[in-house]
Amino acid sequence: MTVPTIKLNDGREIPQLGFGVFQIEPGDTAEKVRAALDVGYRHIDTAQMYGNEEGVGKAIADSGIPRDELWITTKLNNDGHGRESAVSRLDESLTKLGLDHVDLYLIHWPRPKENRYVETWQGLEDAQKAGKALSIGVSNFQPGHLDRLAAETSTVPAINQIEFHPHLVQRELREYLQQHDIALEAWSPIGQGKGLLDAPELKEIAERVGKSAAQVVLRWHIQLGNIVFPKSNNPERIKENSEIFDFALSEDDIAAVEKLHTGERIGPDPDDFG
Ligand code: NAD
Repeated sequence: MTVPTIKLNDGREIPQLGFGVFQIEPGDTAEKVRAALDVGYRHIDTAQMYGNEEGVGKAIADSGIPRDELWITTKLNNDGHGRESAVSRLDESLTKLGLDHVDLYLIHWPRPKENRYVETWQGLEDAQKAGKALSIGVSNFQPGHLDRLAAETSTVPAINQIEFHPHLVQRELREYLQQHDIALEAWSPIGQGKGLLDAPELKEIAERVGKSAAQVVLRWHIQLGNIVFPKSNNPERIKENSEIFDFALSEDDIAAVEKLHTGERIGPDPDDFG
């Protein structure tokens, strides 16, 4: 499988497709990540919150795949905000993952009410300088949060990982990220499957192009330039979700997928959460 890469504002290149491990049981994680690595995924998205970094680490160690061929992301937990804590929490993650660095370390949520995300970001800058995280970024940040990082710190996040799927096409935020050269990672890219994938509009395109509705939605993200890491526990679907580089959607199909936008979120509003 040849996966395209997206060039980040720090000069590094991230594979546009990865495997997400949210809601995969800790005891099952090594097996599921191994299934993904076996069909060619080389990018894994985990988080301290998911409680399964050890399983990711075990799969990496057992695979024998050279470290520099893998892209591993983890995220700072919500109770770990603070400059020093951001670094010490990453040290704990590295121990669990069995690695000496991650490719990407993200602040999972901005927690604006706690209002420590600026100093937390300085902790991520420290971690990057120490070589513990090669790239650093944020997740669930709104333009106002990013404006503050730009005004008060010296590094622009390489990535913002946000909820983004056909029901939640975040046009304004996407435009902001493009203008500031921040890459967009789309979480819950297929809207967690439920409901969305039954849309007749998706079924029509899927039948016409000979792919599944999930593959159509993932291909839509790829053509928008988003980075995606769909999750599945099912080896057949893990493989299916990676078979999205041998077809293309027309401009009309892309527009039709975007029309499914309802504005409904799966997760919480980042301004209120935490
Ligand atoms: P997703 O959109 O990837 O959907 C996963 C679900 O869709 C599966 O549980 C399964 O029920 C279904 N599914 C998967 N493949 C399918 C297929 N081919 N056909 C039909 N149904 C299929 O949702 P997600 O897991 O929430 O998001 C993906 C990843 O994004 C997570 O694993 C995690 O890494 C990341 N994430 C990040 C945040 C954040 O706050 N930063 C929040 C949620 C998720």
